Amino acid sequence: MPNGEARVVDGAGRLTDVVDNYGLISFNFGPTLLSWYEKAEPEAYARLLAADKASAERLEGRGNAFAQAYHHAILPLCSPRDRATEIRWGLFDFETRFGRRAEGMWLPECAADDATLSAAAAEGVALVVLEPHQADAVRAAGAGAWKPAADALKPGVPYKWTDGTRSLAVYFYDGPLSRSVAFEKSMKDSRAFAARVAGRVPAADGVALLATDGESYGHHEAFAEMGLAHFLKYALPEAGVEPVNLAWHLSKNPPKDEVRLRAGGTSWSCAHGIERWRSACGCGEAGGGSLEWRAPSAPRSKDCATASSRSPKRTRPGSSRTCGPRATPTSRSCSTARRRTSTRISRSGRRAPRTTRRA
Ligand SMILES: [Zn+2]
Repeated sequence: MPNGEARVVDGAGRLTDVVDNYGLISFNFGPTLLSWYEKAEPEAYARLLAADKASAERLEGRGNAFAQAYHHAILPLCSPRDRATEIRWGLFDFETRFGRRAEGMWLPECAADDATLSAAAAEGVALVVLEPHQADAVRAAGAGAWKPAADALKPGVPYKWTDGTRSLAVYFYDGPLSRSVAFEKSMKDSRAFAARVAGRVPAADGVALLATDGESYGHHEAFAEMGLAHFLKYALPEAGVEPVNLAWHLSKNPPKDEVRLRAGGTSWSCAHGIERWRSACGCGEAGGGSLEWRAPSAPRSKDCATASSRSPKRTRPGSSRTCGPRATPTSRSCSTARRRTSTRISRSGRRAPRTTRRA
């Protein structure tokens, strides 16, 4: 877990700082991974819990850690009972470890449909993160005409989702910025990337929100955790932007607009909704292997679908790049950055430092 102790070095390669990135990003770990981690790396595990606590102290009680469904289940493919169990167990595991109730929950593969959000809201989840293409339409909360999300959706702004009875907030991450970290080695030049992020922070009421795999830092890209450490602690503040977290942001900015999801279930994994998890959708065939195994491995009736740890290479929507298989127990991180200054300060004006948060 290189993000827990990420080195920062100077131009001569000399160590100048060691940063716990988890104190500066939102993060989630699958409960099954944490149950192993707790025993295998007790000191690093303790640091993870401490990072959440420190972030909560920094951000008015809003910690950086997100809960996750208990397994890496594709929740829209679960039976209602399994879906509720996955969410409930994930929340219980989180509370047991972090000593507080989770506000945010990471949905495996961002797989979501109305039934999934309804189940999450029923268990008390306050916010989730999705990819922009998963939205169908948006409008002013509770009124007005729906506008196509492709035209009107704003990443980094909370949207109210409701089934008419229950509701929660949905944040949509910035696709280009997130893909840049995942596939374009953004962490090689943290200052250049910070300048780019600063340009994407909304002028008011929003954040620049990036969602990335934990494996991006040190596994998919060697030493990217070092770039992330410098980005979070040095380059972003230099660019007038400070890391915050979504629970904190939501507490200050209740949703003004409402979102409707695309029908049929969607995920961030590919452009074919949740077909990736139950059929040969076409993605991942570049390696020449057959994907016909997916259909028989998908749930037939009451079983949950769980993303295979040996799933073939995949392509994300909007990207020509592929990334390799990843283990079922996963970690994810969200970098949430807000402008460091009060919104009263013009974007071109001198920015007065104001300590806020991120997770
Ligand atoms: Zn696909």
